[in-house]
This record gives sequence, structure tokens and C-alpha cells, in this order.
Amino acid sequence: MTVLVTGGAGYIGSHMVLALVEAGESVVVIDNLSRGFSAMLPRGVPLFIGEAGDENLVEGVIAAHGVSSIIHFAGSVVVPDSMRDPLGYYHNNTMTTCNLLSAAVKCGVPRFIFSSTAAVYGNPAQVPVPEHAPARPLSPYGTSKLMSEIMLHDTAVAHGLRYVALRYFNVVGADPQARVGPAAPGATHLLKIAVEAATGQRAKIDVFGTDYPTKDGSCIRDFIHVSDLVEAHCAALAYLRQGGAPVTLNCGYGRGHSVLETIDAVRRVSGRNFAIHTAGRRPGDIMTMVADSSRIRATLHWTPRYDDLETIAAHALAWEEKLLRDRHGAQQHALSA
Ligand code: UDP
Repeated sequence: MTVLVTGGAGYIGSHMVLALVEAGESVVVIDNLSRGFSAMLPRGVPLFIGEAGDENLVEGVIAAHGVSSIIHFAGSVVVPDSMRDPLGYYHNNTMTTCNLLSAAVKCGVPRFIFSSTAAVYGNPAQVPVPEHAPARPLSPYGTSKLMSEIMLHDTAVAHGLRYVALRYFNVVGADPQARVGPAAPGATHLLKIAVEAATGQRAKIDVFGTDYPTKDGSCIRDFIHVSDLVEAHCAALAYLRQGGAPVTLNCGYGRGHSVLETIDAVRRVSGRNFAIHTAGRRPGDIMTMVADSSRIRATLHWTPRYDDLETIAAHALAWEEKLLRDRHGAQQHALSA
């Protein structure tokens, strides 16, 4: 009954592994450590350092650990990067998922949970966007995930694999106890950048576009706390174990906050008035992206716990402060050695 988590040492994956271990599950991780850290894993969780698309590795792990469910996080996630390096994204996301699915089918793994994205919708005609809205991605990132969704569907039809594809909206925040959180350098996502500014690591934050026809001119996103996202995966696993049919679900709260509101929340929670710089629109940005979350709530009986912008900002800030303390401690240690 072991659960294989690909990308389990990364940002979302590490929260997932923690939740599975706390629930008493047997867990094994494959991660290439390109953006992950082995220190993020609880003691005793086996880590195989390698590619989730390496079929030999995956088949070996499945056989050795009796894997019966796969939760697939490993992949690349930055929209602007995908515009610059589309083939890298098709390789890391689409081809890796293809190989992983091949290994799952070959070894008879019956359950698969897939990290998809709201980027599959492109610019939605209807907001909140329901799952049946047309998928017209505007970036190679969104396309790479949509292609993976199609492969999942076809694999389910041909081989009986049962899956849940979760279309993530904007995943943010950190473990409420600050045990794990986003740690990779070179952040591009809004909330992480805002807490880096609040902790003095950046002089300012750029706001990409304040001339959109929204309430305050900035873009609107459905920010979802990483712990609620992980809870949705736990519910998806239970759903599949109870024999649930393959399904694709939006994973967001169903309400939007603007970029400026989000920055304001970080300023309030931190008590630090870091500078905001109005920059031009960022190419490829979608104006408003909010989930219609009725299907996930009904299908998985999922009830989020942290749907509050200040709580999310507070958890992100506490984690960032801990990262800084740890880094400072490591520097002091190196100096005194
Ligand atoms: N954003 C911003 N400044 C930043 C980073 C992001 O204004 O330094 C904006 C970005 O233009 C978008 C929103 O915040 O409107 C969310 O961007 P993010 O990169 O966090 O996620 P995305 O929605 O692109 O997946």
C-alpha cells in the first residue's frame, strides 16, 4: 500500500510527504533534487535521487516498495520560463509523465494523482472557471500539463488506471508549524517575493500591471494554502481507494484576491512597509483566474481550513523568517569552525 511521491523533496511534495507520514502511510520518494532538498523529508522516508521519467528506476522502486498509488509532483512550474524554454517544459512535464505512466501500467499500479494547473484554461471566458470550460493554454507550461491530462485519460480508458487530476490555482504559503516551505532560490511567485521583501531580502516588489480592468487595476488570483492543497490530495487518495472513477478537478477556493491586496496583507502581517514599484504588464499573464470549486467540494468532500489571506501571509512569513534564521545559524557555524 506504499505511496510513491515524485518531487517529494520539493515545495508542495514535501508538505504532501509530511501529511502522508502523519496519516501513518508508507511513503517512498523519487526526486532529482533540482529544486528539492533531502532535509525536507521526515526521517525514515526512503529517497531515490533520480528522474521520475526514468522507467528503470521507477519500476525498481515500485517493485521493491509495493507501490500501489503514485502522486506525481515532479516537474517545472514557471510560466515565463516555459515561454523561453518550451522543449525543456515538454521534456520535464509531458515526457516525464509519459514514462511514469508507462512504468505504472507495466507494474500494474492502479491509482495515480496528477498535479495539473489552471494554466490549461488560458484566458477563461467565464470566471469562476468550471472544469468544462475550453482548455486553451497560452503557455508551453499549460500545454505540457494539458497533454499530460490527455495521456492520463487515454491510459485510463486503455488500461483501467484510475486517476484524479487536480488543476491547481495559485499555491502559496507554508506548513502552519513552519516545518517545511518554499526553499528553492530564485523565487518568481508573488507571495514568496513579497515575504522576501518583508524580511529585507529585496528592496522592493514589482507589480506587473496596474491598468487591468479589475477592482484595483492589478491581476486577480485564487491563492490556495499549500496545506489545503495537500488535504485535497489526501481526499483524492481516499476517493480512489474507495473505487472512485477518473476525474479532473479544479483545486482552488473559488474566490480571488488582487496582487495589490496580497502585497498589502504581507505588509500588514509583517508590519513592514517595503516599497512597491509599478511595473508594466508581464507577458503571458492572465487577468483574472478564479476556480469554480463546486466539483472538488462535492466529489472529495473537501473543506479548506486556511481560506484567509492574512493567515496564508502569516504562515509564509513565519517560514521565511525560519529560513533566514537557519541560514544565519549555518553562517555563524561556518565562521566559528
Ligand atoms: N506578480 C507581480 N510581481 C511579482 C510576481 C508576480 O506583480 O514579483 C503578479 C503576476 O504578474 C501575476 C500574479 O502576481 O499577476 C501571480 O503571479 P505568480 O507568478 O505568483 O503566479 P502565476 O499566476 O503566474 O502562476
